[in-house]
Amino acid sequence: MLSDWIPATLEPAPFPTEGRCRGGHWLTPCWGVLELTPDHINPQVPASVISVAVHGNETAPVELLGDLLCQLDAEKMTLGAPTLLIFGHPKACVAQQRYIDTNLNRLFQRGLEGTTQEHHRAIELMSAVDDFFERYPSNPHLHLDLHTAIRRSEYPRFAVLPYAERTSPTATQWGWLSAAGIQAALVQHQHSWTFSHYSRHYHQATAWTLELGQVAPMGQNDLEPLAPMGALLSALIQGSAPSTDNPDAITYFVVRDELMRQGDHFSFHFADDTPNFTTFKPGTRLSEDDIAGPYIVGDDPVLVVFPNPQVEAGARAALLVTPTSRPGSA
Ligand SMILES: [Zn+2]
Repeated sequence: MLSDWIPATLEPAPFPTEGRCRGGHWLTPCWGVLELTPDHINPQVPASVISVAVHGNETAPVELLGDLLCQLDAEKMTLGAPTLLIFGHPKACVAQQRYIDTNLNRLFQRGLEGTTQEHHRAIELMSAVDDFFERYPSNPHLHLDLHTAIRRSEYPRFAVLPYAERTSPTATQWGWLSAAGIQAALVQHQHSWTFSHYSRHYHQATAWTLELGQVAPMGQNDLEPLAPMGALLSALIQGSAPSTDNPDAITYFVVRDELMRQGDHFSFHFADDTPNFTTFKPGTRLSEDDIAGPYIVGDDPVLVVFPNPQVEAGARAALLVTPTSRPGSA
C-alpha cells in the first residue's frame, strides 16, 4: 500500500519497487522517491515534482503527503498526471534534525563537489528530477518544494520564488497558490542553490519553495490550515484543474538587501523570536558586527526574513525585503 511508503522510507524497511493504483502505476526508482505514472498521459497537464522534508525536522508536509497517499490507497483519488514524490532527507527526519552534516537545501547545483551525506543525497535527487522531467518534454513542468519555517511569521504560509532570468509564473499559477492559502511571496534576486531553484534553473519548471507554518514534531502538526494546500496537491496528482483565487490577494516582496555576517562577534538588536516579515523603520539599528559595524535601516522601511545570527562568518544572517508588485504583472 502506498501509505506504507513513508514509514518504510524512514525505517528504512523493504518496500515493493512497483505497483498499481487507480488510474496508473507507480515505481520507486531510489530510496525516498516515488514516481506515479498515469495510464493515459495528457500533454496539457503539469508533470509535477512534490518534495517534502528536504529539511528533516519539517514534518507538516510529510503528514500532508501521507494523507494524499492514503486517499490514493482508498481510491478516493484517481491518478491523472505524472508525479514525482520525493522524501528529501529521511535520515535527518529520523534524527529530528534540520540536517546531519550540512544544509541540503544549498547543494542543488550541478558539478558541486563535497563528501557529506547531504552532497550525495543532492546528487541522487537531482538525477531523479532530471530523469522525470526528461521523460515528459511536452508537459508543463512544476515543482513544489514543501517546508515549514523555523520561526513564527507575520504570514504563516508564504512562497519563495527562486531567481531566474526568464519568465515568471502566470497569474493563473499564482492564483493556485492564493487558493491554496499562500499569503505572501518572496521573489529571490539572485541564484541560491535550493531544490526549487534547481528545477526552475535547469528545467525551466514553474517552481516554488513553500513555507507552510512553523516547525513541529511529527504527529503534532495542525493540518487544518493546510487543507487548501492538500486540495492543490490532490488536483495536480489527479490532473484536474486546481482551484484558483485572486493572485493579488498574495502580498509580494522582493529582496532589497542581504544582511551579511562578517565578524566573529555578531548580534541582532531584535529578539530571537522576532517573526519573519517584521517591519523595521528607517534609522533602526538592526545588528552589530565587529568587522562590518552596525547595520542601520536606510530611507525606506524593510521587513526581515529568515534571520539567523548563528551563521558562520561570511554567510547571510538575514534577508531584508520590501513590497513589490506581482512578478509578470507590470
Ligand atoms: Zn526548510
